[in-house]
Amino acid sequence: RPMSSVTIPPPACMLRPLEAPLRYLFGPGPSNVPPRILAAGGRPIIGHLHPEMYEIMNDIKKGIQYAFQTENNMTIAMSGSGHAAMECAVFNTVEPGENVVIAINGIWGERVAEIAERMGANVHRMVKSPGGYFSNKEIEQVIEKHKPVLFFLTHGESSAGLCHPVDGIGDICRKHDCLFLVDTVASLGAAPIFMDQQNIDILYTGSQKALNAPPGTAPISFNERACQKMFNRKTKPVSYLFDMTHLSNYWGCDEKPARVYHHTGPVSGFFALRESLAILAERGLEASWKKHKEVAAYLYRGLEDLGLKLFIPDRDLRLPSVTTIAIPEGYDWRELLMYIMKNHQIEMTGGLGPSIGMVMRIGLMGYNCEKHNADMALHALADALKNCKKSKA
Ligand code: PMP
Repeated sequence: RPMSSVTIPPPACMLRPLEAPLRYLFGPGPSNVPPRILAAGGRPIIGHLHPEMYEIMNDIKKGIQYAFQTENNMTIAMSGSGHAAMECAVFNTVEPGENVVIAINGIWGERVAEIAERMGANVHRMVKSPGGYFSNKEIEQVIEKHKPVLFFLTHGESSAGLCHPVDGIGDICRKHDCLFLVDTVASLGAAPIFMDQQNIDILYTGSQKALNAPPGTAPISFNERACQKMFNRKTKPVSYLFDMTHLSNYWGCDEKPARVYHHTGPVSGFFALRESLAILAERGLEASWKKHKEVAAYLYRGLEDLGLKLFIPDRDLRLPSVTTIAIPEGYDWRELLMYIMKNHQIEMTGGLGPSIGMVMRIGLMGYNCEKHNADMALHALADALKNCKKSKA
């Protein structure tokens, strides 16, 4: 074929430079990435199977073990966002036809229920409206009734702004021979979680919230009970990419003498994730939890001074990384958020899934979790409340 046979010309947009504006990411994620993490992600690429890369992956594993407070050997980072970890957890530990119980009090339980249904599990939903939470007694009753192999709970429900209590649930699951799966995508580093002490069998998070790494990698860990179940399956998991038999080898967590090629991990993403975990280790978990709590309390006061109502009435149940505000009476929440973006370059967001139309959300996570950022967010909100007309309705 002659070289001139292309019929699709180069698109005009590709002949223009990339534009990515500077924005204050005060929504529920991604959060702003500090220069040190950006620089780590900008380092020259090395091969995904080079010994230096294995070292970096080993470091990441140690960093995750610290962040999760676990000694689990089966600790890796997914090549993919939080959803990759959600699918990995369910695909590997549940077989088609098995019962699972999913606690739903916002969008994340809904998503995991759908993921489990798609792979053929029998899904039993425990549902509360956004902001609701489940008592251990309620959870135990449902587990006794359905005898599931897995129970799912969201620790940091970012769509509702709720931080769910976890103590005691792991013991209930153990008693009933059920695996306890917990989502900490929005809460890790911002609110205490202790994987081993709290008997959590599978725990995952995301890179782009309080860890402040770019989106695209997701730490996950499985304890011995979870490994027993997932490595003694009758069927293969539906996903090849997320099969823990392969991933455990890629991350050097199995007994095999060598790591073999499975897929090409996101090398730059792993560099950045390593740096974000290093920052958390240097800072210390307790200091990070304390800071999130203090800045959140400062934000609550400012919001109340503006006459706004916090969506989660019980302060102890509020998620320190993502604060939800009830939509102020008479305002159009979309207009408020658009005004804030246009005039202050600040991202705040509305609800998600069942909380749409119920809340507006402010996230101050990790690097962004500072009083001066809370002040900026409050100033922008005050300005929007003054200038966005109240609707006549
Ligand atoms: N779980 C929770 C609690 C989250 O907040 C999010 C992201 N908003 C996810 C899961 C999904 O993560 P991702 O968007 O990285 O796939």
